[in-house]
Amino acid sequence: MATLRQQALAMVQSRQRVTVTAPSNKISDFFGVNTFGTAQMRVSLAPSAYKRVMEAIDKGSKIDSSTAEEVASAVKTWALSKGVTHYTHWFQPLTGSTAEKHDSFFDAFSGLEKFKGSALVQQEPDASSFPNGGIRSTFEARGYTAWDPTSPIFIFENTLCIPTIFVSYTGEALDYKTPLLKSVEAINEAAVAICQLFDRNVRKITPSLGIEQEYFVIDKALFTARPDLVMGGRTVFGHSPARGQQLDDHYFGSIPTRVKDFMVDFENEALKLGIPVMTRHNEVAPGQFEVAPLFEEINKATDHNQLLMDVMDKVAERHDLKVLLHEKPFAGVNGSGKHNNWSLITDTGVNLFQPSNSARENLQFLTFLVATVKAVYDNADLLRASIASAGNDHRLGANEAPPAIISVFLGATLTEVLNELEKNGNIKIEKGDNMYMKLGISKIPEIILDNTDRNRTSPFAFTGNKFEFRAVGSQANVAGPMTVLNVIVADVLVEMAKDIEKEMTAGKEKKIAIVNVLRKYIKDSKKVRFEGDGYSDEWAAEAQKRGLSNLKSTPSALDVYSTKATKELFEKHNVMNGIEVHARHEIMLESFMKKIQIEGRVMGDLALNHIIPTAILYQNKIIQNANGLKGLGLDNTAAVETIKEVSKHIESLKSNITAMVEARKKLNKEEDIVKMAKGYQTDVKEAYFEKIRYAVDKLELLVDDESWPLVKYREMLFLR
Ligand code: ADP
Ligand code: MG
Repeated sequence: MATLRQQALAMVQSRQRVTVTAPSNKISDFFGVNTFGTAQMRVSLAPSAYKRVMEAIDKGSKIDSSTAEEVASAVKTWALSKGVTHYTHWFQPLTGSTAEKHDSFFDAFSGLEKFKGSALVQQEPDASSFPNGGIRSTFEARGYTAWDPTSPIFIFENTLCIPTIFVSYTGEALDYKTPLLKSVEAINEAAVAICQLFDRNVRKITPSLGIEQEYFVIDKALFTARPDLVMGGRTVFGHSPARGQQLDDHYFGSIPTRVKDFMVDFENEALKLGIPVMTRHNEVAPGQFEVAPLFEEINKATDHNQLLMDVMDKVAERHDLKVLLHEKPFAGVNGSGKHNNWSLITDTGVNLFQPSNSARENLQFLTFLVATVKAVYDNADLLRASIASAGNDHRLGANEAPPAIISVFLGATLTEVLNELEKNGNIKIEKGDNMYMKLGISKIPEIILDNTDRNRTSPFAFTGNKFEFRAVGSQANVAGPMTVLNVIVADVLVEMAKDIEKEMTAGKEKKIAIVNVLRKYIKDSKKVRFEGDGYSDEWAAEAQKRGLSNLKSTPSALDVYSTKATKELFEKHNVMNGIEVHARHEIMLESFMKKIQIEGRVMGDLALNHIIPTAILYQNKIIQNANGLKGLGLDNTAAVETIKEVSKHIESLKSNITAMVEARKKLNKEEDIVKMAKGYQTDVKEAYFEKIRYAVDKLELLVDDESWPLVKYREMLFLR
């Protein structure tokens, strides 16, 4: 009988192209048609209700119950007109995916379709199955979801989806969105205070986010034939193909036809949902691609990224493809990340990270730039923790990925500017002097435009008018790291305001006061700035000398969540209380531990049930061959050597798997989750994963191709 692998390969051969037609040649004809956004609200709500919803969006004011009734009724009419029968609150629990529970509009009692304002505003999903890190056992057993009007309602898979936050009955956040929204508030307040030193008209500042999403695509049949991909999202075995990414030919190559069809298809769906997808291209590894929407306000961008991942997954089905969002589906080639392009934009339309032609604005630009660098320096460990996951551990520091060391890249020009400022800040400025000229900051824009140097090896890079946090994992909910980034920058801005105030109280002129504070912050945070090759071993050594952390594994990286300083930081900015921080720490440790546990089990099952039996059958064939040769009086050395090789790897597999199972059993009795997760890291993952993989991958090279049970790398990675 053919193996699952052979059946899958045959299926791939018979795939037909799926024709994709756009709803219209003009994107503007269908952009956002599946959202109940501002435009839709304007036409379907009474002016007074529309005004109140807009106020809720802009100023965070409460939506009263009569407005909620009106919105609900309009939303229902709109949804029914599109053939939608069900609605759901759509939220982002700490599992990392999105959750929904569908209810019908149909009310059997009245025989009518109904949707009440109260159902729009609040619901009580059965929350007990979502991770809560002990919050609900110590408090109430219930949780509820509440409408977030700042993110548009949308229709997905024939269901009306209402973006919501998810909190426990006592108010603790059980999701990603709640702290993110609070962090947006925190940075708004802190940044406006600083901005007002430069421009009294600024009333509101919002972080913007543009997310570049990397992913792999493989044929669905091949995916299904790999239990490790199905169970854990990554291949635990598989020898590198003869041709990997060493030719560097995939990046600029043309997109394979089937993938191109899939891209066009999911982009159309995304555009209908108001997700402004703009660019598509191949990535570095074979089978790897990227999609990037235009940046949006951070909360919307985050929701859109979560939704986009779902859209990609669903649309891939139609093409018999599977999207792999794992950070490291294949060993030996690049992993996938999510580049978070982040900036701060004022309600007067100024991007605070955009150098300008006005010297005064440049001082403002430098103020926010330096604050961000200082925030990363002061909180590097927390930023590292915010991107920690079992998947990302495989990526950080491996093939062409930023290391686990957090550093900031500014580019040669800005480095020069900061160095000059640090040195010359002391200069005496007389009345009528051009201070900006003296400080050398009157001319930043031209130089920057000139200078397109990019450092792809930095985890946190300034890229002309925004910062790009590249170390975020490809399957992560970006709300985690973005909440941390907002909070740490807010924290520095608050301190900065105080320090500037102090200088001014001591009699310094405002601009001088600002420059003095900048100089100090530049000096304090200098160690985190690195312009060289972040992938090199020299950097790891240099970083160690500088005293920067290099936390390679998730459980260790997460330790910072248990410190007093972390809890105080989140509490001070009203983003999370101590209980919420603690809960998150536990959930992340648990999730890490479970993933390693699953991978360990999959490795064991595959090796024992698939690899070893296949290897033994093959070994028997060669034994026959060796005996046959011997009987003929011929040299059988090669056959005997192969038998020995195969035996050695089978032995190694058996003994390592037995030992790994023992290690897991022992750890499963551990009651302290920190110790348990750390144990899984050292005693399971580090102790056995490599050894087991090594034996299997060697056997893959020895055993005849026809009987090998697992789909090979070359078969998965080179899709046409
Ligand atoms: P690359 O980094 O590959 O050169 P781009 O410069 O085109 O790509 O931008 C990547 C992402 O950054 C896109 O999503 C883009 O919309 C976003 N972006 C551009 N400007 C900003 C900004 N001011 N704030 C946040 N994101 C931005
Ligand atoms: Mg980029």
